[in-house]
Amino acid sequence: MALRQIVTLPDPVLRRKAKPVTNFGRELQTLIDDMIETMREAPGVGLAAPQVGISERLAVIEYAEEDDEDEETEVASEGVEVTIKPPTPKQLYVLINPEIVKASEEKVMGIEGCLSIPGLLGEVERHEALQVKALNRHGKPVKLKVAGWLARIFQHEIDHLNGVVFTDLAARIWQPKEEIEDNV
Ligand code: ZN
Repeated sequence: MALRQIVTLPDPVLRRKAKPVTNFGRELQTLIDDMIETMREAPGVGLAAPQVGISERLAVIEYAEEDDEDEETEVASEGVEVTIKPPTPKQLYVLINPEIVKASEEKVMGIEGCLSIPGLLGEVERHEALQVKALNRHGKPVKLKVAGWLARIFQHEIDHLNGVVFTDLAARIWQPKEEIEDNV
């Protein structure tokens, strides 16, 4: 595996509509592994192939959903109740030729950044939930239902495959003083 260089605006590859993946051979497998490594190193929670200069419909996403409903309450020996949150494992998604088949009417505002637009944040309205169909890394069709922040990441990455970046959609864009986390 190797790290790939992340391209930034105004690189024209970020503005191109990417082509569907048709070959699931070794070259694609290497690209996927490299993109996963590059995303983790950045660090980011998502990375689309155009962000490493490859105009193909492929994105990787790795994110742990913060699920408040899964909190477990334990009673400590002194009789004091403590809330222990189980660690949520990060889930890795490899999306090839993804298509949004259904999007919730409900939309939510959230703050996004992008590895290809360093130093900027924006407030973007996204569908709260999605149904997505895609192919996995072996070309097998998969259907996914995602909601909340994960649905936001999916929309951000699928936009990259269409040459769209978050600053095109943002209601407000600004330069934060602190370092940005959770870039995509
Ligand atoms: Zn991005």
